[in-house]
Amino acid sequence: MTVPKQAQSRSWTDNLRDLRAQLPYLPQALRLVWAAARHWTIVWAVLLLVQGVLPVATVYLTKAVVDSLVGALGGGPDWAAIQPTLLLVGLMAVVLLLSEILRSLTTWVRTAQSELVQDYINGLIHEKAVSLDLAFYETPEYYDQMHRARVDAMGRPVALLENTGSLVQNGITLVAMAAVLIPYGLWLPALLVVSTLPALYVVVRYTVRFHRWRLRRTMAVRRTRYYDWILTLRAAAAELRLFALGDHFRSAFQQLRQRLRSERIALARDQALAELAAGGLGLLAMGGAMGWMAWQAVQGLVTLGDVALFYQAFSQGQRMMRTLLSSIGEMYRNILFLENLFEFLALEPQIVDPPQPLSHGHQPPHALRLQDVTFRYPGSERPALADFNLVIPAGQIVALVGANGAGKSTVVKLVCRFYDPDAGRILLDGIDLRDQPLTWLRRQVTILFQEPVHYHTTAARNIALGDLAVAPELDAIVIAARAAGADAPIQRLPQGYETVLGKWFGGAELSGGEWQRVALARAFLRQAPIVILDEPTSAMDSWAEADWLARFRQLVAGRTALIITHRFTTAMVADIIHVMEEGRIVESGSHESLLKTDGRYAQSWHQQMQGVDHPAGVSLFDEAAL
Ligand code: ADP
Ligand code: MG
Repeated sequence: MTVPKQAQSRSWTDNLRDLRAQLPYLPQALRLVWAAARHWTIVWAVLLLVQGVLPVATVYLTKAVVDSLVGALGGGPDWAAIQPTLLLVGLMAVVLLLSEILRSLTTWVRTAQSELVQDYINGLIHEKAVSLDLAFYETPEYYDQMHRARVDAMGRPVALLENTGSLVQNGITLVAMAAVLIPYGLWLPALLVVSTLPALYVVVRYTVRFHRWRLRRTMAVRRTRYYDWILTLRAAAAELRLFALGDHFRSAFQQLRQRLRSERIALARDQALAELAAGGLGLLAMGGAMGWMAWQAVQGLVTLGDVALFYQAFSQGQRMMRTLLSSIGEMYRNILFLENLFEFLALEPQIVDPPQPLSHGHQPPHALRLQDVTFRYPGSERPALADFNLVIPAGQIVALVGANGAGKSTVVKLVCRFYDPDAGRILLDGIDLRDQPLTWLRRQVTILFQEPVHYHTTAARNIALGDLAVAPELDAIVIAARAAGADAPIQRLPQGYETVLGKWFGGAELSGGEWQRVALARAFLRQAPIVILDEPTSAMDSWAEADWLARFRQLVAGRTALIITHRFTTAMVADIIHVMEEGRIVESGSHESLLKTDGRYAQSWHQQMQGVDHPAGVSLFDEAAL
């Protein structure tokens, strides 16, 4: 058995305290539904009220039919005597028909409501997801939280609404049924309530257990999704086949699923047994009450119609009570899950606008300066940058070279304020980045990221995404593509710039290098005063790199540029070259002065230049070279 320890040792007061903390999520969820689908919700509420009262009408009509039938038959078959009975039967038919109509109507209304609410919540989650710091992606807890919000909590507000609806509707019916029973004895409604208490206990207890289990297993569930993803998605398809990893991941998936499954089944089995016991008690109460009523009838204290009414009212009452309880259980469970959703929505980014942003007098080109910057990635021991100093003068081209993992891309992330440094400052024209408006700051920079996104849309749009704010014309797109060397490969596509890229929506696939050029075009499209290129030529072996580099100086004239690269020939275009090693700068200077210094840079240069015909393809600071 896999019952969590803490679930057993928790007292009722603990649970009650939790409940008090969780209950506010109910109005919060209902407000959310109200905001998403106001009109539908009103219609839905009216439907519920009517549907709540209808069963009582049925019960009363049953009694009337039986009594009037007994009366009519007492005097032998007589058309005139039977007529009122027929009228009642007709009325009954109308009521039944009405309930059917209302039921169908409710289904329709609920679907509309649920669609609206889901999209609304999706909107909230997406809004939150894009506003959070990159640091959130560093911890598995974030993925757990995101998973719970997206997958587990998504449908909850609607479910909660349904529970509430069912609660209200059944509550109305129940109260009415109890009222029907009162004339036969006050203790009958009381018995009705008491006989369902064991079921209430079972419901609450297993709801809590189930929820705790889900929380504990979020990571495991996400892992099954990860295996599922590896096994089915294209990104992994080639390696999966070549290294024959299918069986490996399949069995990993199966093993994990088997564990989760058996835990889940054990939980369900225990719950079923407990429910059975609770149901037995309910039946016992029902039997007792019926026996008593039959005894009354035998004594002539009540009519046959009364017995029929009593049976219906009591058994329906019990059923209502049960439904009510399961609504409460469901409701509770949904509230527990909503906690996850609201927790996620309550996350706040740390990297935000300063309370009083300093206005910026400076005109571009901007100067950048990193001053004694130390930075560790969240959850990481080793600093990615340690007492790091770098000056990028306004309007100049600076190159940063160094081995993999030296910290080059980290510099880029700090300059855009994806993260803030642990110590030290980053200054733009002498003002700390943290004192400047965030959106303004990010608009000052355009970047070719080391691993750019492949957008599955047309080639033109792939480039246009670099600056949607200016709604770029095709001319501007083509100019950016030419500057990036992306024009030729795009022209070769079946529909040129209108070709959809990527396979998701039936487009053309590009090579890694071609994708890179498209991304470079996207970066160029944005006319930002600071240009940062992270390994721009890494995937461009066959391309006339030298040609492109010759134009690069012209391309960024009047702007501040930072190039991160492995290659000599790329670095050579820079005004100043900085050599990075383990989060620090170890050498700086122009290409010529660095060669004269005869340090790290010069050594690699000489090593690599020996016997090389095409320096354009030479890579500096490969692991092999160091
Ligand atoms: P590169 O010079 O190759 O661009 P990076 O700046 O990407 O190097 O990485 C510098 C160091 O920081 C590396 O040791 C890398 O392992 C580590 N690192 C990079 N990204 C993360 C991250 N998101 N979380 C933790 N460590 C990271
Ligand atoms: Mg990098």
